[in-house]
Amino acid sequence: MARERSYPEVRDAVARLCADYPDAYWRDKDRDKSYPTEFVQALTDAGYLSVLIPEEYGGAGMDLGAACAVLEEIQRSGANGAACHAQMYIMGTLLRHGSDEQKRRYLPGIASGELRLQAFGVTEPSSGTDTTRIKTRARREGDFYVVDGQKVFISRVEHSDLLLLLVRTTPRDQVDKPTRGMSVLLIDLREAVGNGLTVRPLETMLNHATTELFFDGLRVPAENLVGEEGKGFGYILDGMNAERILIAAECIGDARWFIDRSSEYAAGREVFGRPIGENQGIQFPIARAYAQTEAASLMVDRAGELFDAGEACGSEANMAKLLAADASWAAADMCLQTHGGYGFTVEYDIERKFRETRLYQVAPISTNLILSNIATHVLGLPKSF
Ligand SMILES: Cc1cc2nc3c(=O)[nH]c(=O)nc-3n(C[C@H](O)[C@H](O)[C@H](O)COP(=O)(O)OP(=O)(O)OC[C@H]3O[C@@H](n4cnc5c(N)ncnc54)[C@H](O)[C@@H]3O)c2cc1C
Repeated sequence: MARERSYPEVRDAVARLCADYPDAYWRDKDRDKSYPTEFVQALTDAGYLSVLIPEEYGGAGMDLGAACAVLEEIQRSGANGAACHAQMYIMGTLLRHGSDEQKRRYLPGIASGELRLQAFGVTEPSSGTDTTRIKTRARREGDFYVVDGQKVFISRVEHSDLLLLLVRTTPRDQVDKPTRGMSVLLIDLREAVGNGLTVRPLETMLNHATTELFFDGLRVPAENLVGEEGKGFGYILDGMNAERILIAAECIGDARWFIDRSSEYAAGREVFGRPIGENQGIQFPIARAYAQTEAASLMVDRAGELFDAGEACGSEANMAKLLAADASWAAADMCLQTHGGYGFTVEYDIERKFRETRLYQVAPISTNLILSNIATHVLGLPKSF
């Protein structure tokens, strides 16, 4: 069994809630590419999506370790927390950098679930990972910003009331550093869609409710600027540590699900007159995946502890995401192999989880970009870009 885990009561309660949403529920959602509304509502009602919101705004005021425990258990149950994980952490930008008025206006509604802030718009078709080259622009006109541009892969927009959007407010060639001149706007989707914002669903290999966004003269009240104009990139980076650690926790949950399923199947499936799990060719990959997952989990815990202590944790958050995503992907591959042909059938759910966990090699940050960050920022190697 895994070593003792933090937040045992939270984990048990989340596992009980998830038991009401068995494999067949997720299989149906995946097949229909539909949103797990009932599951998200149940998590909201139980208060799990607002654990990071301070009590004064109606949340549970818990730390990142607790949020990690929630997401890990969701994934470990076979569910897909990506449908709503961002409701937990996008508000962090508002909490850390928003005005008192913005916090009072939005956070209580986000905590109760009445307001969904679970869409985050950074990626663009032409800039990709090179965020400082985003082209979506906001120019000030009196009491408004007018937004023009395009975003891609922006998830859960159709299931959100609010969107946190990164835009350029000063052209890249007019700032002393490329990271300056970008700003964060809070977009009220209830007003914006159809009035300068067009949302187009983008079909992918997994059920992720992702979209393309087209901005054509969208007018956003200037009071919806978060923090100071031109400093938005720093605000977004601040939030990325939490996002990476939380998604790493999801990967650990996925890895444990694959390992549980593999162990169970290998012990029961008989071929050549004995359980396949008696063969070391089957046992060892399961044991290796387990060891890899336990090691990655320690890094996730370490990154979370640093974050909760308010200490610098950029490298640890990156390493936690890298190692946990690698562990879940290795466990997914092992699980498919352990199940032979049955792993490919929809009814075993492995192919679905396999597709879902593959995403984390690419999003929210790709493996190569993490390696590049470690190489240059931690090891002092020369920059390649
Ligand atoms: C299902 C899904 C949901 C998503 N949800 C969101 C969302 O809600 N909000 C949002 O803003 N974005 C979202 N994204 C976007 C995601 O964050 C990006 O896809 C990811 O950051 C990579 O950007 P890109 O696709 O433009 O790849 P590119 O930047 O085009 O990179 C392509 C490949 O080249 C590699 N590469 C690029 N430059 C280098 C280099 N210098 N050295 C080595 N390798 C390099 C990358 O690692 C990658 O493997 C989502 C993506 C997906 C698939």
